[in-house]
Amino acid sequence: MTWANAKRCSAVAKSTGLLCKNPALANEDGLCRSHARSTGPRTSEGKLRVAARQWQHGKRSKPALVEKAASAAVAKALQAILAAELAGQPLTEEMLKRYCVTMEKWKQAREARLAFDAKIGAPG
Ligand SMILES: [Zn+2]
Repeated sequence: MTWANAKRCSAVAKSTGLLCKNPALANEDGLCRSHARSTGPRTSEGKLRVAARQWQHGKRSKPALVEKAASAAVAKALQAILAAELAGQPLTEEMLKRYCVTMEKWKQAREARLAFDAKIGAPG
């Protein structure tokens, strides 16, 4: 293949509205060196590396939000127990069961969050 019969760039110039016509790079997007742009990481390791680079503090990551919601549920269950105790009412089995279930969910959410943080290499 020579320069004359090389595959051409398929980009359209903004100024003229005509095709670029420069020789295309050997990659699959068929654009020249001026119009080719990074299409981002493709491998899972590359995607993880980019995610780690963008990491701020992780407080709004999906696993962290799930853990936060689970913490709130545990607090609510404890609050119900405390309110019953202060009112002099006997603890019901349902209250204790709800506390145990929410506590178990919180433990799972925490483990998931810690595993995610370790996977992404989050500090702290
Ligand atoms: Zn071009």
